[in-house]
Amino acid sequence: MSQAELMDKVTALAKRRGFIFQSSEIYGGLNGAWDYGPLGVELKRNVKNAWWQSTVHFRDDVVGLDAAILMHPRTWEASGHTANFADMMVDCKNTTCSRRLRADQLKDGKCPNCGGTAFTPPRAFNLMLKTSIGAMEDSSSVVYLRPETAQGIFVNFANVIDATHRRLPFGIAQIGKSFRNEITPGNFTFRTREFEQMEIEYFCPPAQAAARYDEWIQSRFAWYTDLGLRKENLRLRPHEKDELAHYAAGCTDVEYNFPFGWSELEGIANRGDYDLKQHSKFSGKDLQYQDPVTQERFFPHVIEPSGGCDRSTLAFLVDAYHEETVNDALRVVLKFHPKLSPIKVAVLPLLKKNEGIVALAKKIKSGLQKDIVCVYDDTAAIGKLYRRQDEVGTVFCVTVDVQSLEDKKVTVRDRDTMQQERIGLERLSEYLKEKLG
Ligand code: ATP
Repeated sequence: MSQAELMDKVTALAKRRGFIFQSSEIYGGLNGAWDYGPLGVELKRNVKNAWWQSTVHFRDDVVGLDAAILMHPRTWEASGHTANFADMMVDCKNTTCSRRLRADQLKDGKCPNCGGTAFTPPRAFNLMLKTSIGAMEDSSSVVYLRPETAQGIFVNFANVIDATHRRLPFGIAQIGKSFRNEITPGNFTFRTREFEQMEIEYFCPPAQAAARYDEWIQSRFAWYTDLGLRKENLRLRPHEKDELAHYAAGCTDVEYNFPFGWSELEGIANRGDYDLKQHSKFSGKDLQYQDPVTQERFFPHVIEPSGGCDRSTLAFLVDAYHEETVNDALRVVLKFHPKLSPIKVAVLPLLKKNEGIVALAKKIKSGLQKDIVCVYDDTAAIGKLYRRQDEVGTVFCVTVDVQSLEDKKVTVRDRDTMQQERIGLERLSEYLKEKLG
């Protein structure tokens, strides 16, 4: 299977099984926006929960935040986004093409669409999406849909310290929507105009910044592999000096080998004291930290691990996609880490016309569903039901048959090995919970 075929198959499966739909599809779709269907919303929620657990709940030095999408416009002047958050854009001069492109996407000076070599001069295109608030649409009411969640954290730095009495080093984590008017959205959900970010700002004394930067790089890389992304498809790419913002001491991307090539999942940046200094300057509020022991006042340095929820969800989906031949038939299986699988267990009756079997299967399902995300399905023959669950990554299928009515045992089938085991009903829940981790 070629890489292009793999991407086509994942995209088709995502739509067919209700992971991801194009936004406003019945109206012809809106470019750069996607909707998560019944299984997609579970998958994405699992990704976010896994991130929140690992960065907030499992640590003592990070707290959470959920800041508003709309912020005071001065925020974006302070952060530099109003002046600098732009891509250079050119138009292809071939009149049958006229494609609008990012200048850095030209392939050896040629249009990637038509091969043309004539372009308009590059011009800066600000990526922030604008809207207005209040009844008057004049310039005083212009606000932006945030292009990153990070600034919501910086402007709340003093609030969080006052509320929690945190001492350095500590971090603030946030998951939320961001918006960018990307010139060329594409590669499915990889580059979109509306997306969710998972960001941490980790504040530390300047002398600790280099060590904390290294720690975060290692811990963020491990998060992806712990959740099952294959190591050979992941790499760290330290930025070259000329890629770095003028204030940054370093930045390293976690990249995934997508079917369309190695691309960024997350960036971990050592940002120095730029952000808090800028907001102090623009707001007039002193955002320095006072050391409670030495009484020294200084601007903390910041390490920023900034990842994309949609991009990592796409990577988990692509990485999980497997095709196997079983008894001369194709088996498609999403081998998600159990933590990420949208459905953990499917309870299936072997004979849907046998009332005893159906009643027992439904009873088992409602008993399990208080602790485990599970479904009941009797809409096809058992072989087909197994294939359907494999295709969406359900970790276990529990089958109820005639024998179950007598011996109070069911067959538990493992998604990856397809091994089947008879398990007594009295220990089914414990068995599944232990295996699911
Ligand atoms: P790129 O170079 O791919 O445009 P970036 O370096 O501008 O990304 P950051 O500003 O560092 O991205 O944003 C942090 C993370 O947010 C990215 O690593 C990515 O996972 C996610 N992200 C950024 N832009 C988009 C987008 N348009 N669509 C989906 N996710 C995005």
